[in-house]
Amino acid sequence: MKMDAIIKTGPKPGCLELTRADIPAVGDGDVLIKIEKTAICGTDLHIYDWNEWAEKTIPAPMIIGHEFVGIVAAAGKNARGFKEGMLVSGEGHIVCGKCRNCLAGRRHLCRDTSGIGVNRPGVFAQYAAIPATNVWICDERIPKDISACFDPLGNAVHSCLSYDAVGEDILITGAGPIGIMSAAIMKHIGARNVVITDVNPYRLKLAEKMGAYTVDIRNEKIVDAMRKLNMKEGFDIGLEMSGNAEAVRQMAALMIHGGKIALLGIQDRDMSLNLNEIIFGGLTIKGIYGREMYETWYKTSSMLTSGLDVSGVITHRIGYKNFLTGFEIMKSGKCGKVIMDWSGGAE
Ligand code: NAD
Ligand code: ZN
Repeated sequence: MKMDAIIKTGPKPGCLELTRADIPAVGDGDVLIKIEKTAICGTDLHIYDWNEWAEKTIPAPMIIGHEFVGIVAAAGKNARGFKEGMLVSGEGHIVCGKCRNCLAGRRHLCRDTSGIGVNRPGVFAQYAAIPATNVWICDERIPKDISACFDPLGNAVHSCLSYDAVGEDILITGAGPIGIMSAAIMKHIGARNVVITDVNPYRLKLAEKMGAYTVDIRNEKIVDAMRKLNMKEGFDIGLEMSGNAEAVRQMAALMIHGGKIALLGIQDRDMSLNLNEIIFGGLTIKGIYGREMYETWYKTSSMLTSGLDVSGVITHRIGYKNFLTGFEIMKSGKCGKVIMDWSGGAE
């Protein structure tokens, strides 16, 4: 049986094609999912562009994609608790199950993860088979477009819940989809001021709609925002979500003594930071990778069903046959999340 799938066909820039592929076999421990909606991530864009990381990591040809929601089509005999028709999403990091952290239940700290749509076939297809341990049963009250974004939304939730944010002043550097969703989460959980920076006015507008105070660092200063908001001593919590070295340095310089930073944005090269600012300021820095399995998923669901609204981050919806348009929109930066619909035309 064949299906439509978006495949990185070769180890060079471009080479992303909608072609026919075999519907994946369902192992005893797997769940076969009929994909309904997927979202495009910056990682997919890196694979499309074939940057240095993609060249080292992606075993082309391969089906890409890891952000999705779908319906259970079949379950292997050891995939207990899954029935045909259930609405599901999934954790894209498959852990080893054997290392110290996995054994201790800290699966997000696994030393040997394998990524769906990165190291193994992904979800930009009409069907995907993933281990039952990685399948998340969705709350049907949450719109499918949002459930399709649980992966990046989970990155945001993981970062935001790393520290006690109630009544605190927050600096988010980078108003990409994850920064924008983090602004909404921080407001929802009771932060006082949420200041967000970017160099992209389109995205800053989206963040503003989420309740953030925006700073276009090309022509505005974060200290002016602090003055307007009557903040005297610095930010209590910083979420670095741009991957830009200058943004990290700006953040470190504007934290309150004893402030706490979560670093999510991935630096594409070595960077320098004045460590004395960290030392003399008594700052705490935490690296964030992925989501906590599955506490982050639980908290995400629970906040979404009790008032958290991140729907403003979804700016484009396209059919999967127009996937290249979706990639171009992502590249332009004039977007939040781009959702691809797979529900039409399946066999
Ligand atoms: P994105 O690339 O869409 O957003 C980054 C934003 O930062 C962009 O809007 C860009 O204009 C902005 N930016 C660039 N320079 C800036 C500067 N000097 N100051 C402020 N903003 C600046 O990415 P995203 O999907 O929202 O993800 C955010 C970051 O997190 C990316 O670096 C991504 O690679 C990383 N990421 C990390 C993990 C993890 O597990 N650690 C998971 C997903 C994404
Ligand atoms: Zn492990």
